[in-house]
Amino acid sequence: MDMQKIGYFLAELRKEKNLTQDELGEQIGVTNKTVSRWENGNYLPPVEILQILSNLYNVSINELLSGERLSDERYKEHAEEYITVDLIKKNKTAKKYLAASVIVALITTLAALSIIISSALLAAPVWLRIICIVFSIVIVVAGIGVCCALTVDAGVYECPNCGEKFVPSMKDFIGGMHTLTKRKLKCPKCGKKSFCKKRLS
Ligand SMILES: [Zn+2]
Repeated sequence: MDMQKIGYFLAELRKEKNLTQDELGEQIGVTNKTVSRWENGNYLPPVEILQILSNLYNVSINELLSGERLSDERYKEHAEEYITVDLIKKNKTAKKYLAASVIVALITTLAALSIIISSALLAAPVWLRIICIVFSIVIVVAGIGVCCALTVDAGVYECPNCGEKFVPSMKDFIGGMHTLTKRKLKCPKCGKKSFCKKRLS
């Protein structure tokens, strides 16, 4: 992989869109320094970002990693060469994090429940029960924090209104209501708040 070429191509695509490094960074939730590192060829954007850039710039991930727009024939030559290994690796990591967060959630819930139930069963004095309840709330909050930290980077979310894929900020992520596979987030593209589906790749 030619990092310099990829970086140059990324800069070129951004300029075609009339975006500054600042504006692009803001749109996809990274700093302008990060954008600059990608464009200087120092770092490769992570696969989630490549997906976002590929949507934004209307080129394939394949083309991003080739550092040029590819004709159909050349496209086939490059196809799968780059993407597969990294995508599979990332996907596995994401799944591991998700599994870990489910375990943390289970342990947290069990711990909190057993504290509350035992304090009720043991006919403890009121002050002790209150301490138990406060303590279990602390455990639950800590557990939620750990789960968020584990899953915020795992995969991207897809806006149901415009199809935009994005990585939410930690603040939005924690604040958003959620189910197992969906989370209420504000889409950075169309600005609508809605339940966005989680995508692992
Ligand atoms: Zn949207």
